[in-house]
Amino acid sequence: MTEFLVVFLALYIWHGLGVTIGYHRLLSHRSFTCIKPLEYFFVLGGYLAFEGSPIWWATMHRAHHRHVDTELDPHSPRFGGVWNAYVGWTMYKTYPEHIDPNTQGKDLLKDPIYRFLDQGGDWTKAHMLNFAFGIGLRVAMYFVFGWQVALASILASVAVLQIPLLLNVVCHMPKAGYKNYGGADDSVNVWWVAVLAMGEGWHNNHHMFPGSARSGLKLHEIDVSWIILRVCKWFNWVGYMNEAVVPRFEAKQFAAKQKAALLAQLPEMPKLPEFQMPEMPQLPEFSMPRMPEMPKLPEFQMPEFQMPELADLKLPKLPEMPKLSDFQMPEIAMLQDLQLPELPQLPNLADLHLPELPELPEIPGLQKPNLAQS
Ligand SMILES: [Zn+2]
Ligand SMILES: [Zn+2]
Repeated sequence: MTEFLVVFLALYIWHGLGVTIGYHRLLSHRSFTCIKPLEYFFVLGGYLAFEGSPIWWATMHRAHHRHVDTELDPHSPRFGGVWNAYVGWTMYKTYPEHIDPNTQGKDLLKDPIYRFLDQGGDWTKAHMLNFAFGIGLRVAMYFVFGWQVALASILASVAVLQIPLLLNVVCHMPKAGYKNYGGADDSVNVWWVAVLAMGEGWHNNHHMFPGSARSGLKLHEIDVSWIILRVCKWFNWVGYMNEAVVPRFEAKQFAAKQKAALLAQLPEMPKLPEFQMPEMPQLPEFSMPRMPEMPKLPEFQMPEFQMPELADLKLPKLPEMPKLSDFQMPEIAMLQDLQLPELPQLPNLADLHLPELPELPEIPGLQKPNLAQS
């Protein structure tokens, strides 16, 4: 029995990681890079849990994210009902028109092993191949290790097969869990799905950060797949890992909500009696002691100052001014006494002999002035 349980648990973990790390976080979302043997180790774990062709799985899952909770979503409980969201969507024979691995899964088609498992995109053939491979391996296990190991293996794989199918339904039912982030889709975080699905139940976080190799973002959101990836990184089997960074304001919002929730849980404090200030005793009236009287200062008397009388002032004697009557004006010479020089006598006008003027020629029309008259 112990052998059975140990094998079951070990294989459950391997198949579970095969789906979450191999099929989902690596092939569907390329949220990290790793060495090829590690990729095949995880993808094989998923394939042996009857997850079907990796190309088919990843292409359908990418379409789920692209059209989440719309009519084009291949498995939304909101459209098409719970049965279709659970397992009905896997039973179609071919892709719907809007989903095509040749355009939406080119990276997956590059791998020849995945191409072989995909059987040219024929769903039925690919599922049958997966089924035959899974059953054939368990038959071989039966012959090599006995029925307990073979049974533990087949049960572990069937149990793991349920997980993503269940997740597609439960983690898209708003009442089943909680949201860290808003958004138009119905995705929620469901803790017990996270436990069963190796950390994959933090589905609301995953829809917010689909490219993140880490889905559990809060302290209590334990993400086993992320822990395993960190271990692989330590061994250098994993290269780059894309990790969601929760924006600071959201972290603050979360802390504030938690604080409010904690405060709500605190018992009510008993009401304190009203505090009344005791009356203060009246203080005796305080009277200022009288100041001793200051001795009077003797009156200050200005010494009298007497101006000397003007009469008493002795001014120096000024010299005597000469009297005006004593002033003798110098005598001015009389005009009649002045002797003017004699002027020369002018000749008489009659004595003047003017030269005779020549006679002017006669000009017709012009009257000769009568000089004699003038
Ligand atoms: Zn989803
Ligand atoms: Zn996804």
